[in-house]
Amino acid sequence: MSTLFTKDWFPGAVFATMVRPTRVKGSMKMAEAPTFEDIRYDRPAERVARITLARPDKHNAQSLRMLYEINDALDLAMDDDEVNVVIVAADGKNFSSGHDLADRARMGDLRPPVLGFGGYRHPGPQGHMSREQEVYLGFCWRWRNLPKPIIVQVQGKAIAGGLMLIWPFDLIIAADDAEFSDPVVAFGMNGHEFFVHAFELGHRKAKQMLFTGEAIGAAEAKALGMVNEVVPRGELESFTLSMAAKIASRPAIGLKTAKMSVNQSMDAQGLWNAVQSAFNLHQFGHANNVALHGQIVDPAGLETIRRDARASREG
Ligand code: ZN
Repeated sequence: MSTLFTKDWFPGAVFATMVRPTRVKGSMKMAEAPTFEDIRYDRPAERVARITLARPDKHNAQSLRMLYEINDALDLAMDDDEVNVVIVAADGKNFSSGHDLADRARMGDLRPPVLGFGGYRHPGPQGHMSREQEVYLGFCWRWRNLPKPIIVQVQGKAIAGGLMLIWPFDLIIAADDAEFSDPVVAFGMNGHEFFVHAFELGHRKAKQMLFTGEAIGAAEAKALGMVNEVVPRGELESFTLSMAAKIASRPAIGLKTAKMSVNQSMDAQGLWNAVQSAFNLHQFGHANNVALHGQIVDPAGLETIRRDARASREG
């Protein structure tokens, strides 16, 4: 008889050691007290944690600090067995205007890299790709695969990189004033770095969003299946909290395995391969822009986007 599964051979302590998830290098350890500047972390209801983007004066533009703080806060919530559900929210009028183009922080200034692609200080396309491998593609994919349900509540505008703090998560609750756009084709780029547009919107609407740079409103996003619910702006927080509390009352293991099962259904349809292919074209776009314009995006794009925004305000 095999003794493989006897208690002696496979004692609980050893088993616990073997199955404990390996801490990713650079992630927050539980013993460390979190200090956040660009986000807030709170526990608004039983078994619910909430991460709030807290740069409303900058329309929650994503600094390197904010991205690392979100990653740390998500780890904190995942490590806490008293948390079953996480909410991602944002202060102010708009959810997020995307990446903070004025941010001068360099990789490694704030935290050791989490995913370890390396080469971050390389002066050529390698350095830029390495950065995007970590804080855009890498973080989005890591967050998408975290085990616990994550609900995001969105008000106002979510532009380009703003979508990268929405699409990796599980449920999307939109205020009736929410708008979603990715106008970066104007910069000579394919779209933002976590390219799930066709999965989120269907292939025709994805192309329309990218080709025109136009925003998709909350009601249309719901009709497309991109958001779960649309609620009046004033009810966004209470509605999301109430849904989170309901979900959080269910067994953690049921929630985790349900999430894994749906994610694996998407993976079986090629989601991850598609995202990586688009990321490669995205890197080509940056390298092409550097060759043509001496910078990672076509500078004419800004005026195109501003012109369209003026026209839509007036129209
Ligand atoms: Zn990029």
